[in-house]
Amino acid sequence: MPHNTSVSMPWRAKKGRYNFMGTECAECRKIFYPGRPYCQDCHKKTADKKLSGRGVILTYTENHTAPVGFEKYVPYMIAIVELEEGPMVAGQVVGDTSKISIGKKVHTVFRKLFEDGDSGLIHYGMKFELDE
Ligand SMILES: [Zn+2]
Repeated sequence: MPHNTSVSMPWRAKKGRYNFMGTECAECRKIFYPGRPYCQDCHKKTADKKLSGRGVILTYTENHTAPVGFEKYVPYMIAIVELEEGPMVAGQVVGDTSKISIGKKVHTVFRKLFEDGDSGLIHYGMKFELDE
């Protein structure tokens, strides 16, 4: 793999991957995650908005089945989190999941999603971790 891969990666793609980005309506200030180009309510254009990544668990479930290639990660916790800014997001909870409960505060982290054994690529994605 060429050593300059990260430098040549489009800036926007990189920003989206390592920051927790949504969009905000220019008119009513409603925030969307995942980001959408137009506001759901007033149909005005939205702009990129960096989100705090903090939220509260609304509900959660323990998963014992996994898609092909993810078998070694079961069981895992999936939670619906209400973000500080309003949107609700589903995501995996990592860390000490024995302490998980409804109403617990969480924050987003970027963790390894899976490794592509053939290419050696490691894919990262957003997950939730319980606050201390
Ligand atoms: Zn709006």
